[in-house]
Amino acid sequence: MTDQQSLLRLLPKVDDSLLVLRAAVKAEVPDMILKLAVRSVIDRERARLLAGDPSCCELSAEEWQGRFRQAVACRQQPRLRRVINGSGVVIHTNLGRSLLPPSAVAALGQAAGHYSNLEFNLETGKRGSRYSLVEEIICDITGAEAALVVNNNAAAVLLVLETLAAGQEVIVSRGQLVEIGGSFRIPDVMVKSGAKLVEVGATNRTHLRDYELAISSETALLLKVHTSNFRIIGFTAEVPAEELVALARQRGLAVMEDLGSGSLVDLSPYGLPKEPTVQEIVRAGVDVVTFSGDKLLGGPQAGIIVGRQEMIDRIKHNPLNRALRIDKFTLASLETVLRSYYDLDAALHEVPTLRLLVQGPDEIRRRVRRLLRRLGGQLAGSCVLGQQATMSRVGGGAMPEHGLASWALTLRPLTMTLAQLERGLRGLALPIIGRIEDEALLLDLRTVLDSEVTELVTGLVSLFSGDRGDLV
Ligand SMILES: *Cc1c(COP(=O)(O)O)cnc(C)c1O
Repeated sequence: MTDQQSLLRLLPKVDDSLLVLRAAVKAEVPDMILKLAVRSVIDRERARLLAGDPSCCELSAEEWQGRFRQAVACRQQPRLRRVINGSGVVIHTNLGRSLLPPSAVAALGQAAGHYSNLEFNLETGKRGSRYSLVEEIICDITGAEAALVVNNNAAAVLLVLETLAAGQEVIVSRGQLVEIGGSFRIPDVMVKSGAKLVEVGATNRTHLRDYELAISSETALLLKVHTSNFRIIGFTAEVPAEELVALARQRGLAVMEDLGSGSLVDLSPYGLPKEPTVQEIVRAGVDVVTFSGDKLLGGPQAGIIVGRQEMIDRIKHNPLNRALRIDKFTLASLETVLRSYYDLDAALHEVPTLRLLVQGPDEIRRRVRRLLRRLGGQLAGSCVLGQQATMSRVGGGAMPEHGLASWALTLRPLTMTLAQLERGLRGLALPIIGRIEDEALLLDLRTVLDSEVTELVTGLVSLFSGDRGDLV
């Protein structure tokens, strides 16, 4: 005990350390950050000492100050940071899903820095509705009667179920009881909505008569969930939307479909699998359809609900809607992205998510070559560079088994391990995210923008020259 106490006395004093640190860093760094940085470093080392690790007793005054400065830099660094996505996953949920086109970024900036007619009708001078701003465009593009936008698709599913089926039964095929990442599971959402889940069919096969037999006086909805993130293959059967709609009409029920990704363009002419588009599902007569704004649509995070006017009105007036409502930034950027869908060919070029998905391997390979040329001999002696055909992924839970032919830059480091390289790239001032495969670090250039090639070169060169610009 006395031993430990004498060791603890070797820790630097907070006030003394602060004085030295204050003199060493820029005047504009707030005192609060300096205090928090010094305390956090000393607290961490005290805890280590008490746990029996006395290594900090060896630190010189300069080394302590170095740690304090590092803690300051760490606290000053924004937490949400830009990264370069070399993973080849286009809709990467962990890296922010869809990129917005410049026009949508500009609209977002306008909405953020200025007043707007968010809930003000410029014609009447009276209060307006934020929902009316995008409703018409969504209806134009999808062919639906009415539309509503909420925080995300999970919110959309919850809100629709709560409005149309709380206290009643909802029939779902066993093959569609999906779990999306982040604990969104259809059975759990059903419980939260107050609706009662009635499972029908088998995991691999569900028939129309399964739904028919399950309908009771308590049934409110027939629900179809798009199995976006997995596939059941082999001996399978599911009921097409048209047949469910016909059954529901006969029995005075409604059909809802959670489409998940919600593509507005058929991407099959570009070599991607045929997915039902929102327009097709609406045309099939499904009463309410929900889908994400930031998956295949390529917009901001949002949940879009389209369907029959009378149902959308009920959903709009649900008090829960107020809790799930979208903000002006989402509305501004969503409106801009949706507008590009008036011309589908233009959308394929303007909406980054679509553009990245339909890029051919030749175009990506040219980018790899350009990158190699730009790197020239700068990494000679520290890393062997190469190029390799690879497969990108759509991501966002969409088209899970479909790979997109792509090209990657390969790095085989000579002066560090692959794991160190991967960590080093993540630790750069502008982090670069790659993946380790076949004894190499791969940067799939499908998801690297042309405008990022220079930054990629700078990052790689600085990492191998030891001037890492990293802060942690
Ligand atoms: C992604 C997805 C959701 C959740 O959508 P978010 O916009 O991420 O909330 C719900 N259902 C399905 C089928 C999905 O694919």
